[in-house]
Amino acid sequence: MFNAKIKEISEKFVVDIGSADTKEMLKEIHSSLLGKKGIITDLLKEMAYLDVEAKKEHGKLINILKTTCENAMGIRQKEIEEVLLLKEFESGKVDITLPSRMPLSGNIHILTQVEEEIISIFQNMGFIPVDGNEIEDDYHNFEALNIPSYHPARDSHDTLFIDDKYLLRTHTSGMQVRIMKETSPPIAALSPGKCVRHDAVDAKHSPVFHQIEGFLVDKHITFGDLKGCLEHFCKKMFGEKTSIRLRPDYFPFVEPGADISASCIICNGEGCKTCGYEGWIEILGCGMIHPKVFEHAGYDPYLYSGFAFGLGIERVAMIKYGVPDIRMFYENDIEFLSQF
Ligand SMILES: [Zn+2]
Repeated sequence: MFNAKIKEISEKFVVDIGSADTKEMLKEIHSSLLGKKGIITDLLKEMAYLDVEAKKEHGKLINILKTTCENAMGIRQKEIEEVLLLKEFESGKVDITLPSRMPLSGNIHILTQVEEEIISIFQNMGFIPVDGNEIEDDYHNFEALNIPSYHPARDSHDTLFIDDKYLLRTHTSGMQVRIMKETSPPIAALSPGKCVRHDAVDAKHSPVFHQIEGFLVDKHITFGDLKGCLEHFCKKMFGEKTSIRLRPDYFPFVEPGADISASCIICNGEGCKTCGYEGWIEILGCGMIHPKVFEHAGYDPYLYSGFAFGLGIERVAMIKYGVPDIRMFYENDIEFLSQF
């Protein structure tokens, strides 16, 4: 009699448990079985009125009922959890057709690109790039370039001295006499690199900047050679339509000296904001090498002649790419740098 009752309860609950769809439903079934007012709790209470033998038998059957129901609930609980997990996966599914995010790749800094382009144009004309010292001695930076200690031109080159003799170079021109002493004409050399001057920072000045010095020495070199060489450079750098303008200028290590302006690449010489409505933009300084410089190198100025020029890499980059402020090159702004 009791056996049949337990069997009936067990069958009913196994079916109920199997059809429970949520954890909440399972919880309800659990409390209706084992809660304070649950069926099993009631069955155990009823046992109080039984004799010892009947207690034993009923207890055994109740335990089997309890274990059967608990096992069934355990299995159903796992099934419900698996369904939930599957639903979660499906809702957060990865769309493999979406384009992936590419890793950021670096590129060569714009100043290095421009430096390489300038060097390559002059290399095609036979100039050879030579590495120089960033720490230069007073003699090669000033004296040998006809800038003696009393010369007012030193003011514009004010820089950091390491001691009485050595300084951070103010231009790469210091390599001129070094190269002339180490070799013999014909010479066509370039000296690119970093320079330091006591300049306040503004849109057009930086205390650290980059320069390329170039010079050529041989017999019978004329101002015409200088003009032809630098005009060719400007056309290659800024476009074939570019024309140049030479105006007298003064640099202690050349005689005569000139500055070269190129026709504005923005307005083609018509006049615009970039060129200050002049149609021309100053590109570089140049001139015929001063006889005093040849004397320092041990060359006979009556036998040899040559020309020298110096151009700022930042300046060329600013003109070519319309960069309004020199500080933008050093700020490491990825948005800016990745354009080039
Ligand atoms: Zn212009």
